Amino acid sequence: MDQPVIRKLSTGVVNKIAAGEVIERPSSVVKELLENSVDAGAARIDLTVRQGGTELIRVSDDGCGISAEQLPLAIASHATSKIQTADDLFQVQSLGFRGEALASISEVSHLSIRSRPASADAGIEMEVVGGRVGDQHPCGVPVGTTMEVRNLFFNTPVRRRFLRTTQTEMGHVTESFTRIALAQPNLHMTLRHNDRVMYDLPPVDRWRDRIVAFFGAALGEALIPIDSTRGDITLRGYVADPTQSRGNNRMQYLLLNGRYIRDRSLQHALGEAYRGLLLTGRYPLAFLQLVIPPEMVDVNVHPAKLEVRFTDSRQLYSILLGTLRNKFLTTDLTARAAVDSEEESVRERAVRAGHDPSEAQRHRQETMRWTANRSAADGPNGDALSSESVVPTTTGPSVPPFRPFGGDRPIPAGGGPELSAEYHGTGDATVRPDPPHSGPHARSARGLQVQNRYLVTDSDDGLTIIDQHALHERILYEQLKQRMAAGTLEIQRLLVPEPVNMTPPETSAVLENRDLLAQLGIAVEPFGGDTVLVSSYPAMLVNVVPGDLLRQLVEVLIGPERDPQPSDLVDSLLHMMSCKAAVKAGDFLAPEEISTLLDQRHLFHDTHHCPHGRPTALVFSNAELDKQFKRI
Ligand code: ADP
Ligand code: MG
Repeated sequence: MDQPVIRKLSTGVVNKIAAGEVIERPSSVVKELLENSVDAGAARIDLTVRQGGTELIRVSDDGCGISAEQLPLAIASHATSKIQTADDLFQVQSLGFRGEALASISEVSHLSIRSRPASADAGIEMEVVGGRVGDQHPCGVPVGTTMEVRNLFFNTPVRRRFLRTTQTEMGHVTESFTRIALAQPNLHMTLRHNDRVMYDLPPVDRWRDRIVAFFGAALGEALIPIDSTRGDITLRGYVADPTQSRGNNRMQYLLLNGRYIRDRSLQHALGEAYRGLLLTGRYPLAFLQLVIPPEMVDVNVHPAKLEVRFTDSRQLYSILLGTLRNKFLTTDLTARAAVDSEEESVRERAVRAGHDPSEAQRHRQETMRWTANRSAADGPNGDALSSESVVPTTTGPSVPPFRPFGGDRPIPAGGGPELSAEYHGTGDATVRPDPPHSGPHARSARGLQVQNRYLVTDSDDGLTIIDQHALHERILYEQLKQRMAAGTLEIQRLLVPEPVNMTPPETSAVLENRDLLAQLGIAVEPFGGDTVLVSSYPAMLVNVVPGDLLRQLVEVLIGPERDPQPSDLVDSLLHMMSCKAAVKAGDFLAPEEISTLLDQRHLFHDTHHCPHGRPTALVFSNAELDKQFKRI
């Protein structure tokens, strides 16, 4: 073997390696450029992006500018104006200090810089292509700096191939923008994508206003202020009450001395504070600023400075947990939590929304009729999507006779560990006239409703207790899926399309998924600004306010998964819609409704679990009952 030769890497290769660490995708460029503008003392920062940042990222600020002599240094690696000595590393007051960002960006893109300090009469312009510095020219520009990054990763094809769809990249860009705009409420910040203004955020005095600008007034109302100081550590900001939660922890904004960070320990403390207040798998929302002396934290442990190391992380954990626990003790969370959307009954929701409860009741009956009408709509003469059947508005249930397919097909049993048993369908049970509804429990020939929550039914083999919401949700989900596949989903066309106001990223997510939503019978169109018009939606969702529906859909569309497959998205949307449309715990059911639900449960596989994976039913076999009652 030849003796290996050790060589110093060329600056270009070194810089590419360094660039790989800092610049992962367009949003990393956005983060670095915005941070530089903040550090430059700008009062206004404008961000313009094309094609999710893959074509163009432009950041303009009115900050201190860079002088002509200094400009080449700005893009040199390990060159910074922010620190000088190693000790300074532990006194960092600025967002940047590594002196690497511009070097890395210019290495893997076409970078153009125009800048003018207040002391200079004219500005200076400089181009850098793949690390190669071009000439400098004087140019006429206002005081401040404009950085333009084009053709990102043009010379690193592997990185370029890793770029995802415009929508995904734009999602990351928006997130970078959001993090900095949340941390800098006193700056005027704008974001434009493909000539559309997504955000125009004037400076605000109250932090809450900036949060609302991003996440809407409904969230604003759910915010609980936090303000606590212990020694030289201050924690302030907001957490959201338990009515607001997400399926992931991305709405937990933690700002450390003005810098957005992720910290597992503090996220854990947040989760602990909400223990018992949220369903499992749900995450609280938080907007918290932690102000601590700079020497108590090492920010130099992560190339993008997203993670930091605290000298006393346990102390911060206990401050966060303690502060939130105290706050929750003195806040009436039960009153707030009572309107939790998933468990809330149609009636409660209607009352809260100022609707007529009897109207809501009627809507529910219509959804239930939709559930029961399955065989009619799925037949050869079923209503096709194009022919748009309209939901009847007459009241009074009319349930068609029910014919189970293969009613004696065994269904795998679910239930708790001690309760498992084989459950068999009831076969061709004869339907007797419903007895008059008596006492606090509704009963039908097929079962009994208890606590407005559970259905109890017996069969030859034993006793089954069913969660009415979970079962209905499961049935609707299966029906929706079948009808969508068969093109027989009924849609409700609105006489007057309903405008729905959303945040800009929500609006783009909805509009970019128009085709997908159309498959579900939801027609949306742009209406200018951040408003979209809903002109039709699935008939089964008559009891859902279109605005609510759209916002829930958005949560799915910009969900935790990166680049979900369209089929997965459709599936999540179907789950969400079924959950919305299903009867809720707390809804009183008419005997016909009980029969409808119980009848339909044999039609689908695994009706023992709702789409969330919770059990829908507990099954007590005859043998189990006999054993419990010590008969055997
Ligand atoms: P760092 O931010 O870690 O210092 P950068 O590579 O991001 O490193 O920037 C290098 C230097 O260029 C900064 O220290 C700063 O002096 C200058 N600079 C970068 N962007 C701007 C800007 N928008 N306005 C003024 N100066 C800037
Ligand atoms: Mg920087």
